[in-house]
Amino acid sequence: MPFLETELERAYAAPSLADVGSPAAGFTVAVAGGGTVVGAAELDALPGLRAIANFGVGYDNIDVEEATRRGVVVSNTPDVLTDAVADLSVLLVLDVLRQGSAADRFVRRGEWAAGKRYPLTREVRGSVVGILGLGRIGEAVAERLVPFGAEIAYHSRSAKDVAWAYHESTVALAEASDVLVVLTPGGAGTEHLVDAAVLDALGPDGFLVNVSRGSVVDEVALVAALEAGRIAGAGLDVFADEPHVPAALLDRDDVVLLPHVGSATDQTREAMARLVLDNVAAFLERGELVTPVN
Ligand code: NAP
Repeated sequence: MPFLETELERAYAAPSLADVGSPAAGFTVAVAGGGTVVGAAELDALPGLRAIANFGVGYDNIDVEEATRRGVVVSNTPDVLTDAVADLSVLLVLDVLRQGSAADRFVRRGEWAAGKRYPLTREVRGSVVGILGLGRIGEAVAERLVPFGAEIAYHSRSAKDVAWAYHESTVALAEASDVLVVLTPGGAGTEHLVDAAVLDALGPDGFLVNVSRGSVVDEVALVAALEAGRIAGAGLDVFADEPHVPAALLDRDDVVLLPHVGSATDQTREAMARLVLDNVAAFLERGELVTPVN
């Protein structure tokens, strides 16, 4: 077997970078998958590294500041996943309001056949959908929900050139919203941005949808708010400790739980993979990335 193949296979099979051994020192480009954490320890183990191509638009799994300090450039996969993630966000907005998942469970449990009626639900039309983080995906979600008759409001650190109502803070947006859709990046700057005060501002008739990162929502505060009826329900694609979901959420009919599948379609995952490979090729050929983040 050729040397390169043997070494790469050994690297691929290694449970951690420490087990890769000497070949790791020779790697100049790394591809980081969804759950791959790249911090100082990993960068120490890859002293020859010059570029990291991240498979995902969110790159809170990578210590970009430390990478920059060491002259390592980082790329992500913006735009190609916007439609798929926006579609999934809309699915969650519709599900928390119309309760498709909970009603499905009601039928399967035999409650309909036993003569029970499913309670009435809420409509998108006339609901205020607050977008926390009006970026590429947030704007695509808003554009999709306008034809449904939703009223759009948003908060980002800066107001955007759009016609929708801007709110100066997360609490103010939550107060104005029937459904709060979280679409900020993860990482230190947004940790627990949605805390007990934001959930209380959303209120007992308000729903939370989180498609950003689990770290953005204080999960303990979320469970407490749901258990006390201080919010009406939640639709979650992301969690603080994936793939673990708080046990307290598993039996609740007012919560929709998805296994981090925002971008998980054939078409989008293929487009993401192509963009990762384009970044790797561009770096190896010209020393530049197509979609750099630093
Ligand atoms: P983007 O275009 O960079 O949008 C992020 C938005 O968040 C920006 O408008 C930014 O606006 C705002 N923001 C940043 N920090 C904020 C803060 N502290 N408070 C309020 N707003 C803040 O990124 P995108 O392509 O839309 O992706 C957004 C995120 O979605 C990703 O970073 C990732 O975490 C998540 N995502 C999840 C999945 C999934 O499978 N569930 C898939 C793809 C992406 P300002 O700079 O004006 O604040």
